[in-house]
Amino acid sequence: MSEMGEMYRDLKDWQKARRRIWGEPCAKCREEQPRRQPTILEPGRFCKVHRPWHRDPRPHPTEEEFAERMAANGWNAHKSEES
Ligand SMILES: [Zn+2]
Repeated sequence: MSEMGEMYRDLKDWQKARRRIWGEPCAKCREEQPRRQPTILEPGRFCKVHRPWHRDPRPHPTEEEFAERMAANGWNAHKSEES
């Protein structure tokens, strides 16, 4: 049971780190709703806050690019197994 909790926390940390490293504020949000906190988008993601939907213009990183950049930020390839 507690292992599930651990994994879940790891996943949360991982997602937070990924967002921090790759996320950028949605340009459309800033343009159309400058007073609102813009949505943070990862490459290629859609912002669903406003219509028409806006997609982050950056190309999706390849697995290598992704791993490299995460590693550069202290997140080596996700170590899920420890036993
Ligand atoms: Zn937006």
